[in-house]
Formats: sequence, C-alpha cells, structure tokens
Amino acid sequence: MAETILRLQNISKYYYSDTSVTQALRKINLEFSMGEFVAITGESGGGKSTLLNVISGMLPFDEGEMYFRGEPTFQYDDQDWEEYRRNKIGFVFQDYSLINHYTALDNILAALVIQGKDPESSKEEAMAYLEQVGLTEQAAQRASQLSSGQKQRLAIARAVAVSAPIILADEPTGNLDSGSTKEIMSILKQLHREGRTVILITHDNDIAAQARRVIRIKDGKIEADFEQQVEDW
Ligand code: ADP
Ligand code: MG
Repeated sequence: MAETILRLQNISKYYYSDTSVTQALRKINLEFSMGEFVAITGESGGGKSTLLNVISGMLPFDEGEMYFRGEPTFQYDDQDWEEYRRNKIGFVFQDYSLINHYTALDNILAALVIQGKDPESSKEEAMAYLEQVGLTEQAAQRASQLSSGQKQRLAIARAVAVSAPIILADEPTGNLDSGSTKEIMSILKQLHREGRTVILITHDNDIAAQARRVIRIKDGKIEADFEQQVEDW
C-alpha cells in the first residue's frame, strides 16, 4: 500500500455573500495515496474547483480537517501554509498563469528562485524541465508568443519544477485541441509514473477514462469514488 499523502475529513466550505450562503463542500471525506492518478468529474457548480483549491491550500476550509502525510493542518500557521503551497503543491491552472513577458526559460527559473535557488546555476535544471515537456526550442520565446498547448505545457513544467509531490490541474485541457490534449495527458501520466500524485478536474469523459480512480462530485458531496481498469500507459 502506498503512503496516504492527503486525507480530508468532514471538510466543509461555505461562500458568503451579503444575501446568501453557498455550501460548496459538504463534509467531504477523501484519501489520496502517493502516486495516484485521479480524475475529478461532475456537473458545473458541483464543487470541483473548490475542492481542488482547498487541497492546494489556497482556499481555507470552514469545517473538518485536512491531513498532509498524517499531520493535521490545524496547527499550520501562515508560514506553514505558504511552505505547503510552495513546496508540496504544483498547480496547473486552465488560464496557465504564466508571466507573459518572461521567456519560457525565465518562467521556470522564476519558480526555482521562489524556492530559494540561484538563477544562474539553475539554468541547466530549468532547461531539463522544458525538455521534459518538449519546449527546448521555445526556451527563449516569451510566454505570450507560445501556442495554447505550449503554454499549458510550460505551466506544467513550472508546476513540476517546484518538485511538488502533488500535482493539481483544474481542467488543464479545457482550452486545447485534441493533439495538445494528448500531449498534456502524456506529460501528466509521466509525472504519475515518476511517483507524483496527480489530481485533475475534467469534464471530458475520454480523459476521465484514462484515470485509474474517478471521483464524481455533485452538490458539494462525493457522488461516486471508484477505481477502473485503464489501458496500459
Ligand atoms: P465546479 O468547479 O464543480 O464548477 P465550484 O467549486 O466552482 O464548482 O462551485 C461550487 C459552488 O460554489 C457553486 O454553487 C458556485 O456558484 C459557488 N462558488 C464557487 N466559487 C465561489 C465564490 N468565489 N464565491 C461565491 N460562490 C462561489
Ligand atoms: Mg470549476
């Protein structure tokens, strides 16, 4: 049995506005093992992004507890949460969240510098991440000049550069054509093979069919959570 890296226990999340309260997550219980490949599916508004944002440490939850490697996070202070977001989580956003006027290489270097590495001596390492996603040729191009598929690959390379054990992706192929979607999926699968936990949100049944475990969320609750046979990758 692989180590449990993350455990959510009775996690609830509310959004408050002047006139209403939305309960986006209702007592969610989930466990993720190291190295799992998981697809989260479900209708729009069901709570998928909220769940991913809670896992990422970007969105505080209101009730319940989240354990990272067996440690309860209630004891985390701001600095611990920052460390968690920075070193434990690689987040791939649908809108890429790249630094557009930086080159592809500098986008990776920026991620390494945030971790305290020296930019000059990290270039080789940064190039290796670009190579992993097939962007060696584009290293000197500005992020804004890349195609959608290339941008998403760069965003993944950056998430990988932080050597985080958990890779989260919210609809990473939502804006991409089928060729780029294939490339992104093969990169995510490669990360999974390297032992990282990959959790991605998708609307696309073909993509969900490629994940060993599928979690379906509806109205803030887990509607289904099952393992399935997948073709050998
Ligand atoms: P999904 O990603 O499955 O589409 P979300 O997690 O985005 O679902 O949303 C779950 C519920 O929470 C929805 O009812 C949505 O309208 C609401 N919600 C999401 N984000 C916010 C927010 N920032 N403020 C208020 N309500 C929100
Ligand atoms: Mg969403």
